[in-house]
Amino acid sequence: MTDLRQAYATILPLVEQPARYTGGERGTVVKDLAQVRLRFALAFPEVYEIAQSHLGLQILYNLLNGRPDIQAERAYAPWVDMETLLRQRGLPLASLDTCSPLSEFDIIGFSLQYELTYTNILMMLDLGGIPLLSRERNAMHPLVIAGGPCAFHPEPIADFIDAFLLGDGEEAIFDICDAYLAWDKRDRRDLLRALSHIPGVYVPAFFIPEYADDGTLGEIRPLDLDQAVVHKRVVRDLNAIPPLRNQVVPNVNIVHDRIAVEVMRGCVRGCRFCQAGYIYRPLRERDPQALQQQIEALVEQSGYEEVSLLSLSTGDYSCINPLLREIMNRFAGLKVSVSLPSTRVDALSPHILKEIRRVRKTGFTLAPEAGSQRLRDVIQKEYKEEELVEAARLLFGLGWKSVKLYFMLGLPSETEEDLFGIVDLCRKVSAAGKHRCQVTASVSTFVPKPHTPFQWAAQLSLEETEARQELLRRELRRSGIQFKWHDARLSFLEGVFARGERRLAAPLLMAYRLGCRFDGWTDKFRLDLWQQALAAHGINPDFYLRRRLLDESLPWDHLDSGVSKKWLQRDLAKAFAATLTPDCSVERCSYCGACDFKTVRNVTYHLNGAKGADHRGPQVDAWAQALLPEHNVWGTRQWQLMQEKRGAGGRSPKSKRV
Ligand code: SF4
Repeated sequence: MTDLRQAYATILPLVEQPARYTGGERGTVVKDLAQVRLRFALAFPEVYEIAQSHLGLQILYNLLNGRPDIQAERAYAPWVDMETLLRQRGLPLASLDTCSPLSEFDIIGFSLQYELTYTNILMMLDLGGIPLLSRERNAMHPLVIAGGPCAFHPEPIADFIDAFLLGDGEEAIFDICDAYLAWDKRDRRDLLRALSHIPGVYVPAFFIPEYADDGTLGEIRPLDLDQAVVHKRVVRDLNAIPPLRNQVVPNVNIVHDRIAVEVMRGCVRGCRFCQAGYIYRPLRERDPQALQQQIEALVEQSGYEEVSLLSLSTGDYSCINPLLREIMNRFAGLKVSVSLPSTRVDALSPHILKEIRRVRKTGFTLAPEAGSQRLRDVIQKEYKEEELVEAARLLFGLGWKSVKLYFMLGLPSETEEDLFGIVDLCRKVSAAGKHRCQVTASVSTFVPKPHTPFQWAAQLSLEETEARQELLRRELRRSGIQFKWHDARLSFLEGVFARGERRLAAPLLMAYRLGCRFDGWTDKFRLDLWQQALAAHGINPDFYLRRRLLDESLPWDHLDSGVSKKWLQRDLAKAFAATLTPDCSVERCSYCGACDFKTVRNVTYHLNGAKGADHRGPQVDAWAQALLPEHNVWGTRQWQLMQEKRGAGGRSPKSKRV
């Protein structure tokens, strides 16, 4: 046992959930460190139960450890009790797998899922003995990188991170490792220069922000004019990446305690508030047969009895019904159940819903997002009121006792009428269950996110959000509808950091030093400390919540998500004309810019003979009944056509078309 592990052993009896820090779970990979050339810490700035639930981290952990010369380990944010003890005893934050101090790693890669984890990043670096500011690190310190959705609008933390990776990490992560291994470990700037030449990598040190007299951003000036824009990285074919076949199985309950399998990446429904729907374009489905094999391997390796099919909208996966049927048939005797964390009821056949109901006794969530049809058209949420009520009736009829309806408050153009629309819709859903079932309205606050058509929109102030929440609380209570709301203070700060720039680095550092941690947790959030830190640096947070002008420089203009700014502006105009943009997986392309149609485009698997949206809506049951359980009835359509056009050559997913 190392000295550090022994020291940790003395404090673990004093903390809540010691298993958060012990490591040694089934599925962990520990190599002979003398045999590896590079040590990589995959860092997640949240507590173990959340961090260990993150699929992206599991994917990278296994991919990196698949290379004999790399040891990848995990490092998560210590909960407040553990942080206090580490500081009291003068102990560093250590990795889970070998209990090594963070400072011993070559690369530390943070996952940026949420703006309110930024103080935890500083806490982890600080406890790891690593200088917080990138410019204060030298060749002896680890390289600190970050990826994930917030890497697309990273300016508020640009001073703390050496390099960001935009987009898919599965291939780029090896380019970064190889650049590190090729570096002579003398001048850190040489390494940063090499990284900046890797597609998808943004090195903030090579971009200088300049501000106009009125306080707005003038531009983020590139030092190298040949690299003025960083384009995101795209894995064009997810089937070409070795699938996850080894999942770490925690020794304590975690938030998502089950097998997690990604069925597709990207979503082209085009909900105008949803950043993930733009930055992960195009849509790339995974081969359903490969998914089945992967699930079989994971059930055997992990011993889990629940499989979760993940994506931004799993009901839209073209082969969802046949895939579910296959999984249920295959595992029926083993009591392995399937869950779909995000789906549309209308995408599933009643038969499949019945199967899900057998194992999923908890409530079902529907996401209309807005209360009125007008506003749903503005945000491009293609749910009609009748469809929602019908979906609820179906669910209640199948035995569900509770349905949760998810809404957003403060969407662009929202009026009081739209708020009463929420109440009205909830009442109708409750009536569909003959008022005997529980209906819950769960309401969050709209935060305009970069790289979406609503990136120019204003965000509600804290006071206005609370006033609208109060109206809903009062009206819903009268109707016997349960009301759940997201803490308005958290959305307020999320909004500031989502569209902020580098001037927020100083208040962020100060807030951390004042004691801010776990800002995404209502009971840990300290608005007073944040207000103190912002005021100390002369920053009015409302400046970041305001509406942006269409010709204004935005702090992420130099970062290309694939979807062009011109297209986003056109889509914004369509929003206010309440016009829908077609879903390009089943209708025509609107040329958003995410595909080059040579190597990158939507990849979908279809039942043979299926056209357009055959796999959705009323056709679903017919397809599911008629075409199963044959194995060889699905294949890629777009890739097939593309290969035919281009002739032989190029790589395509293993097509199962017959
Ligand atoms: S370029 Fe066309 S097909 Fe590709 S994601 Fe954009 S709208 Fe869809």
